[in-house]
Amino acid sequence: MRILVTGGAGFLGSHLCDALLAEGHTVVAVDNLLTGRLSNLEHLACESRFKFELHDICEPFDYGKVDYVFDFASPASPVDYMTHPVETLRVGSLGVFNALDVARKYNARFLISSTSECYGDPLEHPQRETYWGHVNPIGPRSVYDEAKRFAEAATMAYARYHKVDTRIVRIFNTYGPRLQLIDGRVISNFMRQAMRGEDLTVYGDGLQTRSFCYVSDEIDGILRLAHSDERLPTNIGNPREFTILECAELVLKVTSSRSRIVFEPLPVDDPKQRCPDISKAWQKLCWQPKIDLEAGLRLSMDYFRKCLGAEETPVRPATKGSSPIGTRPKDGAVPIALG
Ligand code: UDP
Repeated sequence: MRILVTGGAGFLGSHLCDALLAEGHTVVAVDNLLTGRLSNLEHLACESRFKFELHDICEPFDYGKVDYVFDFASPASPVDYMTHPVETLRVGSLGVFNALDVARKYNARFLISSTSECYGDPLEHPQRETYWGHVNPIGPRSVYDEAKRFAEAATMAYARYHKVDTRIVRIFNTYGPRLQLIDGRVISNFMRQAMRGEDLTVYGDGLQTRSFCYVSDEIDGILRLAHSDERLPTNIGNPREFTILECAELVLKVTSSRSRIVFEPLPVDDPKQRCPDISKAWQKLCWQPKIDLEAGLRLSMDYFRKCLGAEETPVRPATKGSSPIGTRPKDGAVPIALG
């Protein structure tokens, strides 16, 4: 197949490109590099079946006939989507329409990367795909949550009215190599802080929960869904639930760090609990994750170490006065090479 991956330079998009190439396909990756990085793709520079197109998918595009479109273009970490709120809403609406139009034009299949954020601060636990969610439509997270809920609605409309053959994956917190060390997410923040001997910043009381899926498990689930006939939303995530405090302690153990844990204000609308019910993925796709959090963190250590090695300027630890959206190291202090 000839496959288009939007957001192909991002964390998940770039791993998806690798997996699709490994399956023998030809891949065209499109990205505007707002949060994606060419360094995620530089190992593919000599791959003849791979092409990168620098483009913002909010503007129409056409890179020729394709058989499958994977729409993975969007800022995804809370700090990123709150830093780029309008871009996030645009890519989840205009961008998704443009990607759907490509699929429609070429009679290609289409898979949208959706998110556990569709469930908001959930009142049902664990979250099944049938749960409609509990989302604040005007809060700071709404730019991402509502964009993804809109993206799901647009995808279903193209399936119903334009007969596009679509899939929807709801991705739960995923981590691993290529996660940006400065994207403000909990795993990247904790790994970076622990390895630098800085305080680990737990927001709130640390009793809120998340479940963390290692990237190879996530990609495996997404590909199984892509090749299946399942057209309704499907959760792909690790159902082992951790409190953020447990997560901090595990990072300290894995990195053998003597950093302390400090507490900072909880960001606005931070979900209290999040855990996927993956019985559907198991029944329909025979999928379940294989790598637990401790093993996954160990597998990610080399990558995080390399990222830290690339940091040239000492960065202030983020221990005081966190913003309502969480914290990440100051932009500009951490040079990240773009390829
Ligand atoms: N979090 C934290 N310290 C950090 C970064 C995040 O305690 O340095 C918390 C955050 O408040 C949330 C959880 O960890 O409860 C996961 O945050 P993340 O930004 O990774 O993603 P989310 O699941 O909220 O989209």
